[in-house]
Amino acid sequence: MSMAKRDSHSRTIGDKQLHAESLMMGYGYRPELSEGAIKPPIFFTSTFVFRTAEEGKAFFELAYGLRKGNPNEEMGLIYSRLNNPDLEILEDRLTLWDEAEAAAVFESGMAAIATTILQFVSPGDVVLHTEPVYGGTDYLLKRILPRLRIRTVGVPAHQGLAGIEMRLRDREISGNLALIYVETPANPTNALVDIAGCARLAQRYSRPNRRVLVAIDNTFLGPLWQHPLRHGADLVLYSATKFIGGHSDVIAGLCLGTKELIAQVKTMRTIFGTMASPMTGWMLMRSLETLKLRMTAQMKSARIVADYLVDHPKVQRVYYLGHLTEESPQYDIYHCQCLGPGSMIAFDIVGGEAEAFRFLNGLQLFHLAVSLGGTESLAEHPATMTHSDVDPEERVEMGISESMVRLSIGVEHHEDLIADLDNALAAV
Ligand SMILES: *Cc1c(COP(=O)(O)O)cnc(C)c1O
Repeated sequence: MSMAKRDSHSRTIGDKQLHAESLMMGYGYRPELSEGAIKPPIFFTSTFVFRTAEEGKAFFELAYGLRKGNPNEEMGLIYSRLNNPDLEILEDRLTLWDEAEAAAVFESGMAAIATTILQFVSPGDVVLHTEPVYGGTDYLLKRILPRLRIRTVGVPAHQGLAGIEMRLRDREISGNLALIYVETPANPTNALVDIAGCARLAQRYSRPNRRVLVAIDNTFLGPLWQHPLRHGADLVLYSATKFIGGHSDVIAGLCLGTKELIAQVKTMRTIFGTMASPMTGWMLMRSLETLKLRMTAQMKSARIVADYLVDHPKVQRVYYLGHLTEESPQYDIYHCQCLGPGSMIAFDIVGGEAEAFRFLNGLQLFHLAVSLGGTESLAEHPATMTHSDVDPEERVEMGISESMVRLSIGVEHHEDLIADLDNALAAV
């Protein structure tokens, strides 16, 4: 038996491959570099001292790509806009869930999305995207990218791959395609888009001098219940504000992919200055220790809540991935790319806005708030809140009615959640 300490980047004991949740407490961190502290300190520092001028020169050569590093050469610490120990440890840990080669952490989900998209598109390019997408992403795609002569083409998520293929028959679109951007499951309807199918289309429309990339916003199911890289996606994006942070107390974002792509994303991040702060990095590391516990508990309760709602006479329809049946075209996609139904539920209440509002105002344990993925359960009204900016006709087309309510299930006891829902529904 070996008595040697495990290397901070080892993922095994003997031949045994360790699970990601077992590595969240120590992976990538060497206590001996921080006075033996079991947890990484918060490295509140803007700049790092070089031991010699030669070392400083060598670090800059690598950082600016002036020379190729040796295989074992690690990038030295220079300045916290480029890199910081808390972010480096966190990024190493975040690669484990999605089995990514590399990760880049940002100060918000929008910073991750905007920085990543802008790295991979140029004037004249086309971005094909599913709809609806997160409100901030929608603004970026429809109002900011067109100002840079980047054309964006939206496809309703419920039209799926067939809808994307139809748009690609237009040569003006397929001939300039740079990026397929997908949010799946779609918010708030939980409509699924086939990730492997998108990857096949991207490959088909790639040109010798231009590879079409697929980017997936995996905020709703990841990083536990869906791993887009395994299905051929090039880039995975997260609002780490949601499940990864998980306590509604930090805003953060994440992009994952190959070393090559993430190095390009990090160049843009260095120039835009959209990296996360050391404090944000530290908070996310703390959150990661309980990620699987939280997301598993949330998913279990969500199933009980969804089953309760589907039988309630004042509920017209429930949108929940765990209720898909074999007859649904979504069923096969679900079984191919999702590992669990997650903890986001939407439902149509019998009636309209007035009934939905009466229900929301009657809740006592659920908080009436947007956002999702935290330890506390939340409820909101998409038509007048998260999706109020969407064109009303498009909103109906997407299936977001005045009677729809969205729930994010937290870690409270499921009996208490149901008691709250029951009470609020009775008041309608
Ligand atoms: C919240 C959210 C975002 C934006 O993330 P921020 O951390 O708020 O910047 C992007 N995509 C999805 C799906 C989200 O839910």
